[in-house]
Amino acid sequence: MGKIHVLSENVANKIAAGEVVDRPASVVKELLENSLDAGATRIKIQVEAGGKKLIQIRDNGCGMVRDDALLAFERHATSKINRAEDLLGVATLGFRGEALPSIAAVSRLRLETCAPEEPSGTVVEIHGGRIQKVEEAGLPMGTSLTVRDLFFNTPARRKFLKSESTELSHIASLVTHYALAHPDKHFELHSATNAVLIASPVEGHKERIYQIFGRDVLEQLLTVAEVRPWGQISWVWQGREPRDRQGGPGIDARAHEDRAERDRGEPGGEFRVHGFVSKPETQKLNRNSIYVFVNRRLVRDRVIQHALTEAYRNILPPTVYPVVLLFLELPTGEVDVNVHPSKTEVRFRHQAVIHDLVRDAVRAVLMKALPVPQFTTEISAHPTTTPALALGRWSSTTASPGYALDRMPEVEPFTLQATVPSPVNERFEFRGGIGLAVDPMESVVPAPQGPNRRVIEDGCMPPIADEPPATSPLGSSLSSLKPLGQIRDSFILAVNHEGLWIIDQHVAHERVLFEKVLKQRATQTVHSQRLLLPLVFELTPGQQAVFAQICEELHHNGFEAEPFGARSVAVKVAPAGIETAEIELMLEELLDQLSREEQALNMEKVRTRIAASIACHAAIKVNMPLEPDKMEWLLTELAKTECPMSCPHGRPVVLRYSLKDIQKAFKRI
Ligand code: ADP
Ligand code: MG
Repeated sequence: MGKIHVLSENVANKIAAGEVVDRPASVVKELLENSLDAGATRIKIQVEAGGKKLIQIRDNGCGMVRDDALLAFERHATSKINRAEDLLGVATLGFRGEALPSIAAVSRLRLETCAPEEPSGTVVEIHGGRIQKVEEAGLPMGTSLTVRDLFFNTPARRKFLKSESTELSHIASLVTHYALAHPDKHFELHSATNAVLIASPVEGHKERIYQIFGRDVLEQLLTVAEVRPWGQISWVWQGREPRDRQGGPGIDARAHEDRAERDRGEPGGEFRVHGFVSKPETQKLNRNSIYVFVNRRLVRDRVIQHALTEAYRNILPPTVYPVVLLFLELPTGEVDVNVHPSKTEVRFRHQAVIHDLVRDAVRAVLMKALPVPQFTTEISAHPTTTPALALGRWSSTTASPGYALDRMPEVEPFTLQATVPSPVNERFEFRGGIGLAVDPMESVVPAPQGPNRRVIEDGCMPPIADEPPATSPLGSSLSSLKPLGQIRDSFILAVNHEGLWIIDQHVAHERVLFEKVLKQRATQTVHSQRLLLPLVFELTPGQQAVFAQICEELHHNGFEAEPFGARSVAVKVAPAGIETAEIELMLEELLDQLSREEQALNMEKVRTRIAASIACHAAIKVNMPLEPDKMEWLLTELAKTECPMSCPHGRPVVLRYSLKDIQKAFKRI
């Protein structure tokens, strides 16, 4: 007798449940998507014990008639598609017909639903996949699903669940982001003790962000809004060769696929990418604040992720991540949503086109918004550990990589005395105890009493001839700077027609070197120096593992370093410009940073890290007197960089005290 038999439906559902629902948040996701597909405009969710004990979701959608209410729990029973061809143009969030039977297999579920077509509603109860009750009841229009004791009959899965608060935070994050994607709908999420989210319908995404996170968050975000007719995109694409995208996740290969696809004809419709991306000052330690929706479906997508990394290249350091809330809308035929059981992945028909469009749209917005930090703006250039775009939290905790100011001899905080009449008292915090504070303070000359006009009539204040021009691109502003001197041998003071500038000499030089190193690496023109004596130092096992992986890349960057004995490494040649004492520090720091990486090392990231590290260790330090011509040289070089406003670690390089602010401070305007 043969050994093979077909599994019972109950077992099959449990197996499917393993793929579709792995934690309370995935149950919420499926149910939420069902409500949205049912056309609901009000969705109210109640959870207890992080969803482990109870998840209840009520909607005012189309409801189900009695027959459907029973069919919905059959495997592959769906109202959303009919034929295989329909899979090519799925416009709903669901289509697999797997969620309800899967959830019902691993919980105690109660469905209450009422559709306008029938006079009364239907109640269905299913425990662990077995129907307990089906009855008629007078119910309001719409659907309510109550899921109790999730995974009660799959103890192994239950054991993998995290604490109640962690599970709740996953649910909260999910509901929040669906609420962000659907600003026209009413969402509520309640835990046993409090209302986690209540969002009534608002006009658009911007208003939703304001409603949920408040003004501060909105101010950290830049708006992306790009619409392109698909025909135009294909046309542009046809005239172009795929670009070199070193180290990307297989994008090159896909570019060829795309070219082949492209030749098979052009689709219609348009491509829209819109949403919000954070300014370079906002930095997150992980990707948890990146949310991408494709045709309103929340997805994790490597192509888009890579496009975002490219957009922020040289603007954000490679170790930190932005906050992104991006909506991509494209003809349904352009996306294959049937890639993963939990529908969190998609495949684009023209991946490379989408990649480039997203990258260019985001990059353009970032470049346009080149921030020149103002004296009156607080700069929090430190990556934050906030796990996600979390409700009521947008704090910044310092966690910055090594920085030359750390090594400054004890310096007391000092104050730049400026007459700023507005009530400002922000601090520019740097690690190492330096604070540059702009205080509201007394004027050196007593402030004029009474209206300004009188003073002007007094003839004390002839108008200033040149009106400050509208802000020009940072590069050209910097090239007109005249250095005046240094503050504490660390910050260069300079002026031009736009106002007074302070430049952090270390980070400015770091930016210059960083771009130079990357360029030299790309063109294989790295300059090296042979050390008088090889530099030998010990590595920890973690560092050794990383060393083995990046040894070749180090070589391309001008290092000759090889294992020396079991645990040491010997450096014989190093890039020109780094002092011997810095080489060991630099390599140790680099190996440490890379060994803390959670993901597999990507060579592009390694390359950027090496460049940032060389730049940091070869750059002019703080506490170093500079001759005027050296300062001038530095400013000229900085002006030539692609991204002069932030250092490779993301810190600001320059601060500007605009002429307008100066005039305001002197009460001239
Ligand atoms: P899918 O969403 O992939 O179709 P599900 O198992 O999630 O599969 O749901 C099965 C069917 O049940 C859906 O196709 C839909 O017709 C119906 N359904 C589920 N939830 C709701 C709801 N909240 N309101 C109305 N109909 C629903
Ligand atoms: Mg569904």
